[in-house]
Amino acid sequence: MSDRRVAIIGAGWAGLAAAITLTQHQIPVTVYEAGRVAGGRARRIHLPEHDHPLDNGQHILTGAYHTCLKLIQAVNPDPEWLRLPLQLHMHQGLSLHAAALPAPLHSLVGLLSAKGLTWEARWQAVLFMLHWHIRQFKAPPHSTVAELLRTQSRTLVTCLWEPLCLATLNTPIQTASAQVFLNVIRDSLTRRRSDSDLIIPTTDLTALFPEPALRFLSNSGQQIHMGHRVKQVKSEANGLLVDGHLYRAVICATAPWHAYPFLQQLGMTTLADQLHTMPTQAIATLWLQYNTNIRLPQVMTGMTGTLAQWVFDRGQSHGQHGLMAVVISAESGQPVTDIHRTITHELHHHLGLPATPVWRKLIREQRATFACTPQITRPQHITDIPNFYLAGDYTASPYPATLEAACQSGLQCAIHLLQRHQRSS
Ligand SMILES: Cc1cc2nc3c(=O)[nH]c(=O)nc-3n(C[C@H](O)[C@H](O)[C@H](O)COP(=O)(O)OP(=O)(O)OC[C@H]3O[C@@H](n4cnc5c(N)ncnc54)[C@H](O)[C@@H]3O)c2cc1C
Repeated sequence: MSDRRVAIIGAGWAGLAAAITLTQHQIPVTVYEAGRVAGGRARRIHLPEHDHPLDNGQHILTGAYHTCLKLIQAVNPDPEWLRLPLQLHMHQGLSLHAAALPAPLHSLVGLLSAKGLTWEARWQAVLFMLHWHIRQFKAPPHSTVAELLRTQSRTLVTCLWEPLCLATLNTPIQTASAQVFLNVIRDSLTRRRSDSDLIIPTTDLTALFPEPALRFLSNSGQQIHMGHRVKQVKSEANGLLVDGHLYRAVICATAPWHAYPFLQQLGMTTLADQLHTMPTQAIATLWLQYNTNIRLPQVMTGMTGTLAQWVFDRGQSHGQHGLMAVVISAESGQPVTDIHRTITHELHHHLGLPATPVWRKLIREQRATFACTPQITRPQHITDIPNFYLAGDYTASPYPATLEAACQSGLQCAIHLLQRHQRSS
């Protein structure tokens, strides 16, 4: 049987998406995962300071994540999440709700009736949306988000567009890709009303999808090797060897920097170098525990002009009362003590939280995502080696590095593989 199996390297969201799709088509797979916990960059962690599971980083999904949501529901029919109609609450007063109208009127009327913006600013935001709608959301080639926003007032940029860009592209507006930003706006704000829903998990990320996915795979008789870091992939006349075991095909679903050695081993040196030098951006999540009676008015609060960008009240989402997850996208590597001090002060000063938390812990993902710039070249899923595929949030996609891009890439690899299989049988 071994030469009929497909090896999947990595049980992040991309690898699991590929494994589920192949399983649904009766293709036997073997999943190798280096870690002890599935989910990759979107996985459960445990901190000694806290009794309950937390996440490697606070995540949010949207209703536009069609592939991702469908896969989650295929293995977890009753997913644990809060699904909220589009709403943004910024600490200095901007508050926006989608109107009860079909798309795109729901977001346009939402912008027009936003609180905390002047009438002129609201019109400007609506005109911006209409301008790009008419142009089918096609940005000038190689333009940045800052260039795209030239017509927008300073307040609109700092209170609305910049926080959205950082949250979705994890890249500062000065260097972020205008086209990818417009893709996100188009898909989440203008198609179906439900696409703009905000989906906040109410369980840890591994319990939401990776664990149910592994259960589904093992109940379907698939092989899963947790804690196995693949070291070698070799091409043979009749397939590909993964650490000495023969497979008909391999889907490499690791982060780009972990795909590098395999591409080198397979002689794809140019692609290997491209992935090795892909610029990345950090995301830091500061976990702050306050007394359990402390809560914020909203489950998710945006902050601008501060180091803190989004504050999630985990009491409201996860029943972890008094626990806040503060997200800093495109984080620039400040000393941990400075981040602790600055954010604790900002939350005290702007949100009225106590001056001293019970405990706090910073989780910094140095290579959280690739830097989503206009210059970036994202590799295709098919490579020069016929049965070796690349999946992952960094591969070719209209989306930035997100759970949706990861799941779409896994699905795409599985589709390519199935098509090749059909042609050859
Ligand atoms: C802090 C943070 C916050 C984020 N917030 C959001 C958000 O709110 N919304 C959103 O949509 N996205 C968010 N993202 C992005 C999202 O997490 C990623 O896009 C997604 O998880 C990438 O999945 P992946 O499967 O492509 O890669 P990964 O998650 O990196 O998975 C790759 C897997 O491969 C394994 N692996 C690597 N090498 C080997 C090997 N040699 N052998 C076996 N296994 C190996 C790894 O252990 C890992 O499990 C965030 C990311 C971070 C870090």
